Amino acid sequence: MIVARTLAALRDARRDARGPVGLVPTMGYLHQGHLSLVHAAKAECESVYASIFVNPTQFGPHEDFAKYPRDEARDLEMLESAGVSLVFIPSVEEMYPAGDATRISVDALTGVLEGARRPGHFVGVATVVAKLLNAVQPDRSYFGQKDAQQLAVIRRMVRDLLLPIEVVGCPIIRDDDGLACSSRNVYLAPEQRQAALSLSRGLRAAEHAFAAGLRDAEALRTIVRTQILAEPLAAIDYVSLADADSLAELEGSVQGPALLSLVVGFGPTHLLDNVTLVP
Ligand code: AMP
Repeated sequence: MIVARTLAALRDARRDARGPVGLVPTMGYLHQGHLSLVHAAKAECESVYASIFVNPTQFGPHEDFAKYPRDEARDLEMLESAGVSLVFIPSVEEMYPAGDATRISVDALTGVLEGARRPGHFVGVATVVAKLLNAVQPDRSYFGQKDAQQLAVIRRMVRDLLLPIEVVGCPIIRDDDGLACSSRNVYLAPEQRQAALSLSRGLRAAEHAFAAGLRDAEALRTIVRTQILAEPLAAIDYVSLADADSLAELEGSVQGPALLSLVVGFGPTHLLDNVTLVP
């Protein structure tokens, strides 16, 4: 496995890559969710590249950029065993050259949900993903449905900027107890982790009610909220049921595919989870 730390090294290797090339962008501290993206890429692409870059521009001033968990040696072992042929680990200076002034804003989808809770976050995400796609020039790039709004923003950006890349969305991977895998789960104290099981429990309960015929948007949100409110350690940022394409919040009866998503705080740690409900 090649470890490229500069654009020059990446470009050298990329010229010789056997195609198609699949890219899995990550911020490192890898878990089974990341590996599922690598496996999906392996199944479809002759060469699989991964990137590890904790992107400063997508963190707010009071967020965890400095203390975001990092373990490069372990990440490299996991990627090599999974069959990745190149990992790109650029420095901040490489990704944001001196005088860097260009930002990408996907306005339509970013005023709600995580975009409303974290102003500027998706400008940072769209900008760094555009840079990574331009640097690597993959045929396909793989993203998790775990970050559903991020996936929607990236799909729209790739479409709007005419990038010749297929964006592939992959299902959420969970631990055996139902908690969605996340690099940030490492921040949770044992009792917080226990309380965090209410997220998937709430989503599952709403999914069952939906399968049994419940269509009222507010009633579905209430099922999720009720499960989480039973946990004193959990502080709800939002529980949303939105149109899966436009991300506009739904009222009344759910008619088309809908994204039931939430963010819940456990102390300073905010966890995301979601399910898609399809009538
Ligand atoms: P991150 O390192 O958190 O920026 O995530 C890198 C990629 O892995 C993103 O496309 C995420 O959506 C995806 N990802 C993170 N957690 C999961 C998970 N539990 N299941 C599937 N994909 C995930």
